[in-house]
Amino acid sequence: MLLTVTDRGLYCEAGDFYVDPWLPVPRAVITHAHGDHARWGCDTYLGARDGERVLRTRLGVGATIRFASYGEPVNLNGVRVSLHPAGHILGSAQVRIEHAGEVWVVSGDYKTEPDSTCAPFEPLRCHTFVTESTFGLPIYRWSPEAVALDEIRGWWRTNAALSRASVLFAYSLGKAQRILAGLRDEDIGPIYTHGAIERLNRDYRDSGVAIADTIYASALPRRHDFSNGLILAPPSAGGSLWLRRFGAISTGFASGWMRVRGARRRRTIDRGFVLSDHADWPSLLDAIAATGAERVWVTHGYRGPVVKWLVEHGVEAESVVSGWEGEGETELLDLAVAGEEIVE
Ligand SMILES: [Zn+2]
Ligand SMILES: [Zn+2]
Repeated sequence: MLLTVTDRGLYCEAGDFYVDPWLPVPRAVITHAHGDHARWGCDTYLGARDGERVLRTRLGVGATIRFASYGEPVNLNGVRVSLHPAGHILGSAQVRIEHAGEVWVVSGDYKTEPDSTCAPFEPLRCHTFVTESTFGLPIYRWSPEAVALDEIRGWWRTNAALSRASVLFAYSLGKAQRILAGLRDEDIGPIYTHGAIERLNRDYRDSGVAIADTIYASALPRRHDFSNGLILAPPSAGGSLWLRRFGAISTGFASGWMRVRGARRRRTIDRGFVLSDHADWPSLLDAIAATGAERVWVTHGYRGPVVKWLVEHGVEAESVVSGWEGEGETELLDLAVAGEEIVE
């Protein structure tokens, strides 16, 4: 086995390194800058060059990080490691590990639909594939990104006509910038941001990603008129005092979880927009098949249904419990359960 599951994370003994460890280790190879994958406290990190700015924001100025371009081979104690686009957020990578004729790929989080804020997912051949399964249930199927963006524009336009500010909740790293990239030619009104998102907007712009102009909301006077604006905020700002400055508002939430009506209801938001940075059910199965892997380890979310499907279709598959369950979209995992009513 090229990789084993330890209490600190997925470990490659031959190369003496960990992939996205959940506890501090001497050498970490990082798939992307989301909090459950890029944890603070390791001695050294290897990450993808495209994600340099967001990874430095996540890990802090003191972190020792080596960056490799996508596809560039790095020799770690005789093991050949390379990072390849995962299509999830800026700088997200699949980790390809090759040693003594055996190839493993750890996908991290991924999506196969291209978006303009990151390099598109690259299918890789391997013997063993470690896949995520955040949306590993047949009910999760996404429409193209353009559909959600059109819905967001229509909602914003309607609210602006009614002098009501549009507060859109979206995860601050990745999802918010993807929405801003899609709205960069919009003239309905100004786009305002919460500080958590504005910081990452700067990283995306500095990395050369084209996103809409934004105004940091907290820098404006209290009496500012926000009524035709779109306000992008992290989900944690929901129900907070911070929202009061915007006057009359309508609230929306952009997430893959919005596919399930119960998740909307319990968030007490006015509108849900189905937009995910993770693969949906058909894409997961397609991506797994494209690897040609004879063995699949399933992490995140709905491990059971994905393992069951693979085993029924002749693939050696097992569920792997990891420390990667706590990120962004998965915070709603307990709200969205199998068999709930689907939003059409
Ligand atoms: Zn992620
Ligand atoms: Zn994750």
